[in-house]
Amino acid sequence: MFVRTAYPTENPQRFRTVLRSLFWIICKPKFVVFVGPPGAGKGTIANELAAFLEIPTVSMGDLFRREQANGTAIGVLLSTLINEGKFAPDELTIGVLKKELLKFKYWRGGILDGFPRNINQAILLGTMLKEQGAALTIVIEFAVPEPDLLNRLAYRLTCSNKECGRTFHLKMLPPKVSGVCDHCQSKLYQRPDDAPAVVEARLATYRTQTAPLIAFYAKEGLLKTVRADNTTGKDTVLKAVISLF
Ligand SMILES: [Zn+2]
Repeated sequence: MFVRTAYPTENPQRFRTVLRSLFWIICKPKFVVFVGPPGAGKGTIANELAAFLEIPTVSMGDLFRREQANGTAIGVLLSTLINEGKFAPDELTIGVLKKELLKFKYWRGGILDGFPRNINQAILLGTMLKEQGAALTIVIEFAVPEPDLLNRLAYRLTCSNKECGRTFHLKMLPPKVSGVCDHCQSKLYQRPDDAPAVVEARLATYRTQTAPLIAFYAKEGLLKTVRADNTTGKDTVLKAVISLF
């Protein structure tokens, strides 16, 4: 049987990991974590900040969907868990992120949008970065009063084009043409998880699982808070975020 020699590319991940840690000695990466309840505008600000810092955003949701679409072992496992109504174990999640961060595009850093979601993930993330010679640069908390969040999500429209994913608000930020994305002209829709009953559940999960991260990162000296309500314009929030760098 023909056995392909694996030598030239033997464990390319390892080679790349070493190369990257050397690169990180010279050029310190920026890793940014956004913490905030659903509807706080993290996704929108993440995209704007990514353009400003010239680093990509990382969405665990997107990474999971890609594993599933590609039918990888992890993707199959994820599908099974989701069908059983379970969440991905934190170790699996961090493994997927670790693999993704090896891509060249993240060598200068990345904005983690919606991750970590609990203390255990935060600890795993810290350990993973530390092992590779990096660390979080900053954790930005988006503090928005709950009634404002509920209002935002109830009227939120999301672009159906996954590459775009921009969001609009029927009252505060309506699209120029009703039901059509200003940016890419794709159809807008209400995400199923923006339905009121689901929003309540998401907020409850945030309060119990994710909000404790705020104290956790404050203790580590990494936390900065940006406050906004529904009278605060997006540009004001973005300016406040950019001023932290
Ligand atoms: Zn769009």
